[in-house]
Amino acid sequence: MTRILAVSSPGDPAISEAAGVLRAGGLVAFPTETVYGLGADGLNVSAVARIYAAKGRPATNPLILHVADREDARGLVADWTPEADRLARRFWPGPLTLVLPAGEAVPAIVRAGGPTVALRCPAHPVALALIRAAGRPLAAPSANRSQHLSPTTARHVETSLGGIVDCILDAGPTSAGLESTILDLRPPFRSLRPGPISPSDLEALGGAVGQGPGVLAPGAPQPAPGMAARHYAPRAKLELVLPGTGLHEAGRGSAYVSLGALPPLPEGVHGVAASRDPVELGASLYALLHTLDDAGFHTVFFELPPPEEAWLAVRDRLLRASTREGA
Ligand code: AMP
Ligand code: MG
Repeated sequence: MTRILAVSSPGDPAISEAAGVLRAGGLVAFPTETVYGLGADGLNVSAVARIYAAKGRPATNPLILHVADREDARGLVADWTPEADRLARRFWPGPLTLVLPAGEAVPAIVRAGGPTVALRCPAHPVALALIRAAGRPLAAPSANRSQHLSPTTARHVETSLGGIVDCILDAGPTSAGLESTILDLRPPFRSLRPGPISPSDLEALGGAVGQGPGVLAPGAPQPAPGMAARHYAPRAKLELVLPGTGLHEAGRGSAYVSLGALPPLPEGVHGVAASRDPVELGASLYALLHTLDDAGFHTVFFELPPPEEAWLAVRDRLLRASTREGA
């Protein structure tokens, strides 16, 4: 049975109730500023194992530990480096995940057996209050079945994991809408996943940041855990098109998403004019794809945004979502 608890402020009694569930080894889905997370006590091996089982997540894909502040992060790494401290001071709480050599406290299951741990301090007041009330770092991947669309509302979580999680904290839609930027802080610094914080935001702090491999070919070896090509995918077939092209292929039962004003569409094609603004589209992308999935379209044609830095994260998610085979 999944209990859904509406929560309107960090002082809401629902938060201490959910913290009790976490301390007892349960699963709580909670809002962050990026997407809803599927949380468990990150130091409790059997609780973390429940996350993998609930999501159908491969054991090779490690989890991010969510902490309330820099002090908590320090206790979970082998060495809290000056770069980590500088980045955390500038971007935490916020959508930046730092990968560092793990401290002894971090169970192997969280690291997927690897030597590093990924840490983030989320900016959502409910998430912060929950971490503090639980008194533990929370392991929390996105609260969806593995490879499916990430949830940006409590209802998305309920549809995907209802009956499986113990409790969902509902604080309305998330604001950033795309998963955090992930940075490997072992030299040479490398971006492992583009997100709301851009490469130039990071470079402003000194120390160049290399770009990860981007979207991998299906079957290619993964240079870092969790980089499977197919990810974040809707049920509908997602076809990326250049603005104004691909229209002739769109038939009945398909949808066409334009960036800005819709072009004239063939009869029977459902048109959606999405935002031309990268931050706005990022915030609404998953909700839009969930809606089109719920409506049952077999194919969604989506205009691919230009290869500019501002669109990096949206392009990454669209490219992964349109890849048919897992890597
Ligand atoms: P999500 O499942 O959406 O929360 O994404 C978590 C992602 O964080 C994983 O898929 C990995 O790509 C990444 N991650 C977590 N821990 C590590 C780590 N120790 N090293 C590298 N990447 C990590
Ligand atoms: Mg995910």
